[in-house]
Amino acid sequence: MTSSPALLGCIADDFTGATDLANMLVRGGMRTIQTIGVPNGPLDTPAEAIVVALKSRTAPREQAVAESLAALEWLQKLGCKQFYFKYCSTFDSTDAGNIGPVADALMKALNAPFAIACPAFPENGRTVYRGNLFVGDLLLNESGMQNHPLTPMTDANLVRVLQRQTRTKVGLLRYDTVQRGAAAVNEARVALQHDGVGLAIADAISDQDLYTLGEACANDLLLTGGSGLALGLPRNFERAGLLPAAQDSEQVPGVHGLSAVLSGSCSRATQAQVANWRDSGRPAFRIDPLALARGDKVVDAAMAFAQPLLAQGPVLVYATSSPEEVGAVQQQLGTATSGELVEQALAAIAQRMHDAGVRRFVVAGGETSGAVVNALDVKALQIGPQIDPGVPATVSIGATPLALALKSGNFGTVDFFSKTLGLFDQLAGARQ
Ligand code: ADP
Repeated sequence: MTSSPALLGCIADDFTGATDLANMLVRGGMRTIQTIGVPNGPLDTPAEAIVVALKSRTAPREQAVAESLAALEWLQKLGCKQFYFKYCSTFDSTDAGNIGPVADALMKALNAPFAIACPAFPENGRTVYRGNLFVGDLLLNESGMQNHPLTPMTDANLVRVLQRQTRTKVGLLRYDTVQRGAAAVNEARVALQHDGVGLAIADAISDQDLYTLGEACANDLLLTGGSGLALGLPRNFERAGLLPAAQDSEQVPGVHGLSAVLSGSCSRATQAQVANWRDSGRPAFRIDPLALARGDKVVDAAMAFAQPLLAQGPVLVYATSSPEEVGAVQQQLGTATSGELVEQALAAIAQRMHDAGVRRFVVAGGETSGAVVNALDVKALQIGPQIDPGVPATVSIGATPLALALKSGNFGTVDFFSKTLGLFDQLAGARQ
């Protein structure tokens, strides 16, 4: 079906989570492609890891299961040897799912009797000990996640949380075992399976623990976890002689063309990044959600501002506002309506900028990135070097490649926008 030497097939339950995992795999030496949803056909770009980005985290359970199975089928056709179900490092889910039901369905489809479940990501402060998930120093249910609007996490004990979502018996791979290395983990899992356990929450408090778990799962058909559990997987493929050691997995083609920054994120980090851009005297146009709601021609106004300037350098178009301003707008328009209005406007501006010759986009905001990528009809991304933790430079796969940096809310240093555009220049210069 493809020339791709695909080894690892990943199914991610959201867009920026998929990018985070892809970034991790590239850093481990695997050439990685991220697709937006399940593609219709084969892939032409060779890669050892493929990450299918779904939007299934909060979808109805049946839909999440069906989409995940469709992704699995597509990945199987590519010849992948191992599969990875990626969810959030805060185990975002409800008693109805979707982590348990999707894991069950994937195990059944793969005929896999056992899978590990480990959301730990110590680099970002997510650790699991005795089955309890910590966010920094706090238990999950005291970390703020208990107030999440869609997936409130009110129990830190993941064995209990997962057991409520699945009929498969859930067990625990304890820290005492993980600490003793891969052989000890494998002994313990045989015992767990003997007791009828099919899904095991794994303790992990350091990267070393994740490497240990990765090594122990080298021959598992399915792993489930956050992006951290993937740390050890590239090494397994290297050991098996399937992946060249120290390969340059970060290679992406250089992209020439005009550059723009679009920001629909109101997270604290993004606010500082927008302020930094403006303070350095670079051109910026602010979108007013209330003007959008009035039906003003905001997209035209943004383009009238940006178009003459783009030839001289990158332009920022942003809706980023302070929490007070966002609160006031949401009160007038409603949260969903104001969010959608801004997303649609930025998506339309992305399209118009593309028509005007923009080929390099820096986008701030998870939802915003989804809207922009759809508007630009991007179906797949080749993952390049890391810009900041969790955010790689990417290049779209297709007739007209676009350089894209898709940043979710709180990621990135204060100079993220100009740093990214500088990296795009470097990549284009290095690969004329
Ligand atoms: P983040 O990754 O920071 O959460 P997202 O793009 O996922 O960013 O979400 C931000 C949401 O806020 C989007 O739906 C966006 O359209 C909306 N938004 C952006 N600016 C404003 C604003 N000024 N007022 C109200 N909503 C806004």
